[in-house]
Amino acid sequence: LRTCEETHPECPKNNFTPELPSYVVGVSPDLPGITARLHKPAAGEKAKCLCLIYCWGTKGQLTTTKSTLGVHMEALPVHQLGLIIQDAITTTRRLGFRYLWVDALCITQNNEVHKASEIKSMASIYQNATAVISAAAASASSEGFLAVERHFSANHPLDSRAWALQEHKLANRKFVFSSAELLVECRAAPRYSSRRSLRPSLLSYSSYNWSGNRRWMDLVQMYSSRALTDPEDRLNAFEGIAGEIEIRSGKKVRYGVPQFGCEVFSWFTAVPAQARSARAPSWSW
Ligand SMILES: [Zn+2]
Repeated sequence: LRTCEETHPECPKNNFTPELPSYVVGVSPDLPGITARLHKPAAGEKAKCLCLIYCWGTKGQLTTTKSTLGVHMEALPVHQLGLIIQDAITTTRRLGFRYLWVDALCITQNNEVHKASEIKSMASIYQNATAVISAAAASASSEGFLAVERHFSANHPLDSRAWALQEHKLANRKFVFSSAELLVECRAAPRYSSRRSLRPSLLSYSSYNWSGNRRWMDLVQMYSSRALTDPEDRLNAFEGIAGEIEIRSGKKVRYGVPQFGCEVFSWFTAVPAQARSARAPSWSW
């Protein structure tokens, strides 16, 4: 991380300290044990922050709701959190960071207004993170990723999750906990691995060269074959990528379709078509 910050011209520098999101998990080293609490930054408060990318899984997990928000700001019941979040808190602390962003805790799940505003901010949350922790090999929040023995696999549960695509594509640096090893990637050093012979295919985790029409098509292809818990999130989970395409190309993106030309209307499905969301017009995907 130090080498990246000090020597890579493509990567954010050590002095890049962005504004914090609306809530973060505070894991300050002055808190004893693995205690943590939800922190609401003051307006304009800046600090370095890590983000967690993971599969929620089908079983419920402890989240922040309107009724638990106050309690979580006092202290998070760390031992009731999914093992994946406990491991992310440990990783954040051991790397010397004070803040971690985890969607389940930092978005008030039953507050639709907060949820909508955080979905709008998702791109900047992942882009501003000093690094993301990607628990690629875990299939649910109940599984940890530190000190876990796994069989090697080139395919990881996170590969099939729709939300995870933009989270990986937007991040500047990644610590990917794959089935076989820890991979470190940044904009200058893609797919750096400690044991290259075991390196799985990491196309899904790599950072992205955003320019060009064809590349957008590749992203839609990668994205649209992935799974969403709520099909109504189809455009929401692509919003960060759409926003980046708008910035880079100068073209507006409407319902997931940029104003590049008519090539985008030659749609066909490689997988069985799913029910179309009523929120998008027929020419969207
Ligand atoms: Zn770098």
